[in-house]
Amino acid sequence: MNINDSEYLKSIVKEQYGKIAEQSKTENETSCCGTGCCETVDYAVFAEDYTKLNGYNPDADLGLGCGLPTEFAQIKAGDTVVDLGSGAGNDVFIARAIAGEKAGVIIIYTRAYWVDIVISFIIAIVILISTWKLFIDSIRLALDGIPGGIELDKVQNVILNFKEVKDVHHVHIWPISSTENALTAHLVVSDKDISKFETVKNEIKHELEHLNIQHTTFEIEYGNCSDNHK
Ligand SMILES: [Zn+2]
Ligand SMILES: [Zn+2]
Repeated sequence: MNINDSEYLKSIVKEQYGKIAEQSKTENETSCCGTGCCETVDYAVFAEDYTKLNGYNPDADLGLGCGLPTEFAQIKAGDTVVDLGSGAGNDVFIARAIAGEKAGVIIIYTRAYWVDIVISFIIAIVILISTWKLFIDSIRLALDGIPGGIELDKVQNVILNFKEVKDVHHVHIWPISSTENALTAHLVVSDKDISKFETVKNEIKHELEHLNIQHTTFEIEYGNCSDNHK
């Protein structure tokens, strides 16, 4: 028999889905193609409850599939919908309810079961890529490291470029969220009139904001540091 023979294809689909249809919904949900395996993935784009959607047909719900493709596809009234491999058929009923009477829903059966696996794999990769930066930032935060994109040397140079600052030490930089950073430092100044330093201090804070450091706290000293370590 030829795989391209439509009658032959129909008989395979009939046979395979017939088997599934004879099992209970609970049995299907716990099987490898059931909804039970969706738990580990956060498909935020899909609605949570299938049964509340317009067009839902309990007879066509065999507890198969992952997420709600009809929600994701943003089907509008009048659309022509093509469902490639329609599972137990519920997506078709729902698509029909949304698309309306004048529209069409076309079902295409294939034996290409791998399509499902490939799509799941692509979704997993997309999720991994979009969360990777957050993951790295979280690790850095947990390890109390200097936030990414900030160089300690650069920060020290920016501060030392102000002629009023003789020395800078105890520079500590850490992220306070995944977008904002904080800094504390000891600044050694020559002028004992601290009120004059106020303007300089604000200018330093401004320069540091350009280096993605939004929160700064300075301890002003006149040469003698109470702490030993630098
Ligand atoms: Zn220190
Ligand atoms: Zn100090």
